[in-house]
Amino acid sequence: MIEVVINSEWCKGCGLCVHFCPKDCLSMGSEINAKGYSYPVFGNEEECNGCTACGKLCPDLAINIYRYKDI
Ligand code: SF4
Ligand code: SF4
Repeated sequence: MIEVVINSEWCKGCGLCVHFCPKDCLSMGSEINAKGYSYPVFGNEEECNGCTACGKLCPDLAINIYRYKDI
């Protein structure tokens, strides 16, 4: 199982993660953070392959990706 966690308060709404996700798992949401930026939401969980591109690209280190082993 893969979980993508977005720290919305660190996000500046640049959209890089949304644009470069190869599986279209991220989209900009309608909510606004305390700094006034919209931030992405993680959807399409079935398609996420855990490539970590979103986390590596985020200039504000706002995305963490976790891969859980099935037990
Ligand atoms: S880990 Fe890869 S596939 Fe999953 S949301 Fe991030 S960029 Fe997309
Ligand atoms: S790359 Fe980072 S700062 Fe830019 S929209 Fe995505 S989470 Fe926000």
